Amino acid sequence: MADKYEIGQLLQLKKKHPCGADKWEIVRLGADVKLKCSGCGRMVFLEREELTRRTKKILGRSEEKNNG
Ligand SMILES: [Zn+2]
Repeated sequence: MADKYEIGQLLQLKKKHPCGADKWEIVRLGADVKLKCSGCGRMVFLEREELTRRTKKILGRSEEKNNG
């Protein structure tokens, strides 16, 4: 099965970060996935399995504009 995650993708997670943002950008993919908070810029590492559990929605690539 192809990996659904790509660098630059924005994800909405089930739990909000303390800064109030719930959107994270993928900045590195490896055994662990590195995410950057869209609100405060904080970086975190999550295992892929953990990320899959925490992801609520995949929002698409960060460079795409969406006025929805
Ligand atoms: Zn944050």
